Amino acid sequence: MAASFDVIVIGSGFGGAIMARRLAEQGMRVLVLERGRRWEPSQYPRKPGDAWVYSDDHPGLFNGWLDMRFFRGMTVAQAAGVGGGSLCYSSVAVEARPDVFTRGWPAEITHQELKPYYDTVAREMDLQVLPDGQLTRRFELARDASRNLGYAARFAKAPLAVSFSPDWHYGLDDPFDHKHSRQFTNAHGQTQGTCVHLGNCDLGCDVRAKNGLDVNYIPQAERRGADVRPLCLVRYIEPADGAYRVIFDRIEHGRLVRSHETATRVVLAAGSLGSTEILLRCRDQYRTLPLVSATLGTRWSANANFISMAVYAGDENIRQSTGPTISGMLDFADGGYRNQRFVVEDDGFPNLLLNAIKASLDSRVRTRFGRQLLDELEEFVRDDTPLRNLMLWLGAGQDAGDGRIFLKRRWFTPWKRALSLSWQVEPSEGVLEAIESMHQNLTEATGGRFRSMPTWSLLKSLLTLHPLGGCPIGTSADNGVVDHLGRVFGYPNLIVADGAVLPTPTVRNPSHTIAALAERMAAHVQ
Ligand SMILES: Cc1cc2nc3c(=O)[nH]c(=O)nc-3n(C[C@H](O)[C@H](O)[C@H](O)COP(=O)(O)OP(=O)(O)OC[C@H]3O[C@@H](n4cnc5c(N)ncnc54)[C@H](O)[C@@H]3O)c2cc1C
Ligand code: SF4
Repeated sequence: MAASFDVIVIGSGFGGAIMARRLAEQGMRVLVLERGRRWEPSQYPRKPGDAWVYSDDHPGLFNGWLDMRFFRGMTVAQAAGVGGGSLCYSSVAVEARPDVFTRGWPAEITHQELKPYYDTVAREMDLQVLPDGQLTRRFELARDASRNLGYAARFAKAPLAVSFSPDWHYGLDDPFDHKHSRQFTNAHGQTQGTCVHLGNCDLGCDVRAKNGLDVNYIPQAERRGADVRPLCLVRYIEPADGAYRVIFDRIEHGRLVRSHETATRVVLAAGSLGSTEILLRCRDQYRTLPLVSATLGTRWSANANFISMAVYAGDENIRQSTGPTISGMLDFADGGYRNQRFVVEDDGFPNLLLNAIKASLDSRVRTRFGRQLLDELEEFVRDDTPLRNLMLWLGAGQDAGDGRIFLKRRWFTPWKRALSLSWQVEPSEGVLEAIESMHQNLTEATGGRFRSMPTWSLLKSLLTLHPLGGCPIGTSADNGVVDHLGRVFGYPNLIVADGAVLPTPTVRNPSHTIAALAERMAAHVQ
């Protein structure tokens, strides 16, 4: 049987978009299957009732912006759409420190080995830093707090995948008006505008100032003939006469229509949860890939994401929901505070994001306690007034990376196996407490009042934007699911190329490392 494609790529985030482009450039016939929509700025969710939510239970009805998964002790936020996490991420693109690769990684992958690939991604995504004339109040607070604590040398502007114009500044007449966004054609032939600090980075940039995958790698892949199909939710993969058959549901008018395509190679790039789930279903449910390593699902990490709040009485100018969501980084990735490795970033919170969280929670949180949490969150973000003196700190770091993803039957739906996560907070408490303590120090060093997130202080429950692991890189099936080039042990031409393969946390934000690894994997595909 002749396969229809040389390669099917599942997912179009950092791993998927890069593999699709590079393999299409090698002359391969590439099909990309993406479960989410192809978003245009005019379709971004903005008001109640818009397409905020992607539901894994009801993708026919809810195939919107954000997929929130609620596990015991851990909520995972991830994107859905052509461009994957680059659609909703805060655009921070940083390299991991060299010492990250010295523990838990195979000898082939070092920072030196990855460096050319990091540089390629930085060039393709046109990384920039916030110009001096455009510093946000949040950036200044984070910088001042770092200075006041004696950490000035550890604080720096974060490299961002955002296009800035040197001419924009807050003193302009109506500075946020789109008329101040300068239109240009980027190196990939796409029309973009420059940033006018609208603060919607996590919700889709109205003026296309974000240099996301949808304006670089994906159009380049399509230019080379890649067929990118949105609203195609992959269910499982099976071997088929020396090739692979990928079985998926097309989401059409609220219904799921079963389809399949074949290819000589398959690249799984559905993210940490997505790729792990597909392989788990192939191994344990459909039994089409029974030889996948017993380590599947292991070494899952939340990259120690930790959010806290700082309230500045009287300071009316923080404007939480204005400007690039993150623009500065205080770096303790060397273990320079309490011997824990982490970074702290000033984190914006688009007013509108509340709508996304509420839409997701409303359908799930029915308990009185859950309602109270929702109300507390809403108190902070309901309208612009409290946001004016509220600052969020985001921490990321080296947690224990010992979570485990698996399939489980729920008592109320015993005929189905649902994705589950086993995660204990205790082994990671050291780094989480160090981050919380640093958040508190930074807040108090600038005269603010520190507030823990109620989900943490009351429930010890966390939210991560950086899910990693589940299909860890190893040296054999005894200690990993894939090798250093993402090749699944036991299955030739089956590759995992996304955040699922990371065998340890990255400490700093992970997307740049995921992208560099994908560039390296693509360079070795034959
Ligand atoms: C709000 C937010 C802000 C963030 N900010 C930053 C930041 O500033 N810097 C940073 O480095 N990281 C950030 N991240 C994290 C970053 O987005 C992820 O680490 C990154 O996107 C992971 O890349 P990936 O290739 O592993 O997966 P993704 O980019 O998540 O791509 C996976 C793709 O696969 C699709 N998919 C999943 N399952 C299936 C299936 N069964 N069939 C078909 N398609 C499927 C998904 O819809 C998605 O498009 C942020 C994340 C969030 C949620
Ligand atoms: S701040 Fe606004 S204009 Fe700038 S990148 Fe973010 S969403 Fe786009």
